[in-house]
Amino acid sequence: MRFVDEFREPELINKAADEIRRLAVPSRHYRLMEVCGGHTHAIYRFGLKDILPENIELIHGPGCPVCVLPMGRIDDGLTMAQDPDVIFAAFGDMMRVPGTQGSPLEHKARGMDVRIVYSPSDAIKLAQANPDRHVMFFAIGFETTAPSTALTLMRAKSLGLGNFSIFCNHVTIIPAIRAILDSPDMRLDGFVGPGHVSTVIGCRPYEWIAANEKKPIVVSGFEPLDILQSIVMLLRQLKNGKARVENQYKRVVPWEGNRAALAAMAEVFQLRPYFEWRGLGFISQSALRIRDTYAEWDAEQRFNIPGLRVTDPKAAQCGEVLKGVLKPAQCKLFGAECTPEHPIGALMVSSEGCCAAFYNYEHRKTAVVTNINASA
Ligand code: SF4
Repeated sequence: MRFVDEFREPELINKAADEIRRLAVPSRHYRLMEVCGGHTHAIYRFGLKDILPENIELIHGPGCPVCVLPMGRIDDGLTMAQDPDVIFAAFGDMMRVPGTQGSPLEHKARGMDVRIVYSPSDAIKLAQANPDRHVMFFAIGFETTAPSTALTLMRAKSLGLGNFSIFCNHVTIIPAIRAILDSPDMRLDGFVGPGHVSTVIGCRPYEWIAANEKKPIVVSGFEPLDILQSIVMLLRQLKNGKARVENQYKRVVPWEGNRAALAAMAEVFQLRPYFEWRGLGFISQSALRIRDTYAEWDAEQRFNIPGLRVTDPKAAQCGEVLKGVLKPAQCKLFGAECTPEHPIGALMVSSEGCCAAFYNYEHRKTAVVTNINASA
């Protein structure tokens, strides 16, 4: 199959759903974590939960980079951009993420120079177009986006661009999975592995999950049939008592990853000793910092970074939702104080955030049905 339509073909989807029902042992409850926020979005968007048997529970994982970034890092970036000479540049999905004093967009409304860019190289163009100002790019994401940040830093260096820096908030997926597996309140049977990250890191880094933790993991694509096929592959392994890494997304993910992208990352980044994640706390060697050879373009080394540590609002249960301990609707603020229009937590902002996905595709649907029934 080559085209998106084929991965949405109802007949094939029904076949996969039948196979899932055949493989799932009725007396057993399966807890499968979809690591990637893109999968969470697709699961809600295509209503995949509705066609799974009730004893297959999908747990949302920590794979939404905006969601796992603690509020202190957003405050740090915005504090550095208080300087009127600084232009704060970031991707659009960062713009509504709340810091303690408001989101980047709210700061823009108060006069801060905040710009949306569509790639890190756009931030370079912004710096070239504004030689009297300093452009600070707020870089965020897993290994999926880190290579483009790395190439941008290499380009800034080759251009000798003096009015440009990057505030690096890139994180790495494997330590987060390890932290989840170490969590005492988490019992999982297997993983729908992240597709986008794996295009860069490949499948090998997951082998310890199968070998040491005896959990199957299937790297998956993002179309409905991809996800259902991945669940079939997980159930087959579980039925046969196996724990292996399998690659359902072969049309995109090479087993060995993308060597050129990994080399660019190795040139520019090194692991931080530890990094704070929202909901998961400090995780060792789970994030990237810019190497000293690129210090001139490292916002953390150029500016006086406050290093703020901020806890989420007390009633917000983003941490528990991120760890998969609570479902989005079980958060006390869900749908009342916290909505996509007025987000309290980042999980309600990003399209990959499970609260936003649940709200947009499940909660609204239920609300419409309730209203129709009430008015009938
Ligand atoms: S509903 Fe809002 S506050 Fe609650 S977990 Fe989701 S994003 Fe966080």
